[in-house]
This record gives sequence, structure tokens and C-alpha cells, in this order.
Amino acid sequence: AKKAGRNNFRVFCDDMAHLLTERLEQENDLREALENEEFELFYQPQILIDTGELIGLEALIRWRRPGQGLVLPSVFIPVLEETGLIDSVGEWVLRAACRQHVAWGEQGLNPPRIAVNISGRQFLQAGFSGVVSRILEEQRTLSASLQLEITETILTRDTVHCIETLRNLRGLGLEIALDDFGTGYSSLNYLKRFPIDVIKLDRSFVSECHLKEEDAAICAAIISLGRSLGLKTVAEGVEEPAQLDFLRREGCLAYQGYLFSPPRSPQETTELLSARACE
Ligand code: C2E
Ligand code: CA
Ligand code: CA
Ligand code: CA
Repeated sequence: AKKAGRNNFRVFCDDMAHLLTERLEQENDLREALENEEFELFYQPQILIDTGELIGLEALIRWRRPGQGLVLPSVFIPVLEETGLIDSVGEWVLRAACRQHVAWGEQGLNPPRIAVNISGRQFLQAGFSGVVSRILEEQRTLSASLQLEITETILTRDTVHCIETLRNLRGLGLEIALDDFGTGYSSLNYLKRFPIDVIKLDRSFVSECHLKEEDAAICAAIISLGRSLGLKTVAEGVEEPAQLDFLRREGCLAYQGYLFSPPRSPQETTELLSARACE
């Protein structure tokens, strides 16, 4: 039994060493990806439900990994967060979004706001609002060009610091969206205490809002709550016309999802903006 125990320990150690090596390799690869400019932003249109107007573009990061195609963020964002690399990649994302907004503006394409996802660690770092304002200045980008998406779990950490950061960011003229709304807890409390502009209805409620009583009730409640608090409501993950009909009936402001468009490459987004500019 003792010997088996020792063998198990050896296996355990080998596994750990293997995991550690793998993690270090991933970290290295991601660092190189940033240096070699292998990250890209795709953009998903946000559409006003009443009029069909394009009111926003959510920037979603991809890693164009040589020999492996496009890698989705669920694979590498957790590694970036654990290793702290998210701070520099997050800055790259903000800078890239600003640069793209300015470029579209210069092409006369009248781009809507770009919504940028901000990870918890990035948002909570000291001086985050300073980082944002520096990037806006350096890229000569109007603050009205950006919206920042944060999740409600961020807000559970350091309330006083969060409120101050949010005030600073809104003071600059940025909009703040609460992402994945309803998936955390005590959301109602946050709505009252934190200065925000938009709530994003999570896909987990939207995907069956046209089929299940419970999901319909939750969506309807969040939309009406948002409206009575003067917040914009944006539904994510809309795939079916029946979902959109439901959201329209409930008075949701805007939506995004495969029904209108999946996230698009910069080139495909330029085409969408050009087509709209000609309408
Ligand atoms: P999220 O912010 O909730 O983004 C929505 C996700 O749903 C995106 O996945 C999008 O491609 C996908 N999606 C959009 N419409 C539909 C639809 O109709 N049906 C379905 N099934 N899915 C839809 P993606 O691009 O893989 O991003 C996953 C997550 O990674 C995001 O979730 C966000 O939390 C994170 N993320 C993406 N880009 C960034 C970034 O630049 N920085 C940070 N910190 N996180 C990011
Ligand atoms: Ca490598
Ligand atoms: Ca988001
Ligand atoms: Ca979501």
C-alpha cells in the first residue's frame, strides 16, 4: 500500500509538472502573440429594435494563431487573467478599438460607439480610468466613441474604489454597460448604487425567452426594471425571430446576436458601415 501511495504521489507530481510546463508555455505564447500582433478585434453589431438603426459594435477579441486559425477568447482570456497579462492585452484592446473608430470616422463611415469588454482585474487595477483617458488622448479619440462592458461580479470586490472608477470614466464621457446581467447575485443592489448606463440581458435568459415561462418572466422583469431606472437594455445572443418579437413586445431597446450578424472581421464591419452610409 505504501508503494502504491508513493507511485500515486509520483504520478501526481508528474501531472503537476506537466500542467505547470503547459501553463508556462501558454503564457509565453500569449506574450509573443501580443508582441507579434496576432490579436484581432471582431465586431458584433447592436441594433435598435424599433428602427433597425445600428447603435453600437461590441469588440470581441480573437487570436489569429499561426497554423491554428482563429482562437476564441474563452480559451485564452482565463490564462491572461491568471497570469496578469490581461492588463497589457486589455490596453491593446482599448487602443485597437480607438484606432479603428478613428479610422472609420476618417473614412466618413460615421461609426457608432464601440463596446469594449473589460476584465475584472483590469478594471480594479489602480489608475484604470487614467489608463483609459491616456489611451483616448494618445489615439485622438472622442470618449463618446466608447462604451465599457463590466460584469457585476467585479462590483462585489471593492465598492468604494469601483464607484470612484465608474464616476471618473463617466466623467470622461464614456458609457458603462453591466454585462451578463442577472447571472451574478444581488444585482438590484448594484443598479441602485453604481453609476451605469446600460444593462445587457445575458444570453442564458434570452436563448429560451420565447419558449419558457420562467425565462420570459426574467427577461420581462429585467427590461422593465431597466426602463424604470432610465437605463438602456441590450439583449445578447438573439438567434430567432421569435426571440426578437418577444423582446420588442417587452420594450427592450436594442439587441445583438446571430439573427442580425455574428461578430464580423474589421473588413466585414467596414462593408456593413459602408452599406449603411449609402442608405
Ligand atoms: P460576452 O461578453 O458575453 O460576449 C458574447 C459572446 O456571445 C461572444 O463570444 C459572441 O461571439 C457570442 N455570441 C454573439 N451572438 C451570439 C448568438 O446569437 N448566439 C450565440 N450562441 N453566441 C453569440 P466570444 O466572442 O467567444 O467571447 C466570449 C467572451 O470572452 C465574452 O463574452 C467576453 O466575456 C470575453 N471577451 C471577448 N473579448 C474580450 C476582450 O477584448 N476583453 C475581455 N476582457 N474579455 C473579452
Ligand atoms: Ca512559443
Ligand atoms: Ca460583453
Ligand atoms: Ca454574456
